[in-house]
Amino acid sequence: MNTATPHPVHLVGAGPGDPELLTLKAIKALRQATVALVDDLVHPGVLKFLRRSARVVHVGKRGGCASTPQAFIERLMVAEAQRGERVVRLKGGDPFVFGRGGEEADALRAAGVPVVVVSGLTAGLAGPAALDLPVTDRRHTRGVVLVTGHTGEGDDLEPDWPALARCGLTLVVYMGVARLGRIVQGLQAGGLPEHTPAAVVCSAHTPRQRQALCTLGELVATVQREGLASPAIVVVGDVVQASPYWAAAPVQQPLQAARQREA
Ligand code: SAH
Repeated sequence: MNTATPHPVHLVGAGPGDPELLTLKAIKALRQATVALVDDLVHPGVLKFLRRSARVVHVGKRGGCASTPQAFIERLMVAEAQRGERVVRLKGGDPFVFGRGGEEADALRAAGVPVVVVSGLTAGLAGPAALDLPVTDRRHTRGVVLVTGHTGEGDDLEPDWPALARCGLTLVVYMGVARLGRIVQGLQAGGLPEHTPAAVVCSAHTPRQRQALCTLGELVATVQREGLASPAIVVVGDVVQASPYWAAAPVQQPLQAARQREA
């Protein structure tokens, strides 16, 4: 083992897809790396910034699929750094937003390996932006909540959907499509009307990007009918109307009719 202090491991956010959304700091870290540990949501085009000689290890962890155990990834990062490698840990979006980056940074520090965090564009903000959807538009809301829809069975940490429904903020849900029925039910139980505008964007900023805009009441059926699947971001809130795509959504008229009935 190398006894000198290891090079810092760079936890790098690769952004949501399109390599043009990388930061200059991310590109610099990629150019210097000798080993890259890569999540499977990282766009392959990002890897072209690595040196030809860099070793690439894919450690994907897609929800529901066979995956590399987290402890293995952490041990591998530590071992490579201690061998004197310049390690980049490449994660989709931002490493500290639902990316387990915090746990990985803790494991590295506990092993005496310095850490540098390189922020990336998170899918929960860049995804809506791909629909020209301004998540905190002050004409509609005072803020935005980033929340995960994926929790283990019987998990105490399941978000309190009825409480979120009442907070009046834009809701941006990561990993939400698989449990969409339950999420919509919880939001409606908290009082969100079924005509609340909603949007889903999957594989944002990639050539496979697809989206749908509809009311909350139609969300589950729309996602099923359109075959929209993970990775996807779900946005719920009045601000969805600020997206120019909303004007083209077939559900506009029911929304306006409901609003007129309420008035
Ligand atoms: N650290 C990442 C999130 C990891 S969790 C970030 O900051 O973006 C994985 C979830 O992110 C996916 O299930 C999906 O909800 C979302 N996601 C990641 N990339 C996406 C993309 N290109 N389009 C839509 N959603 C995406």
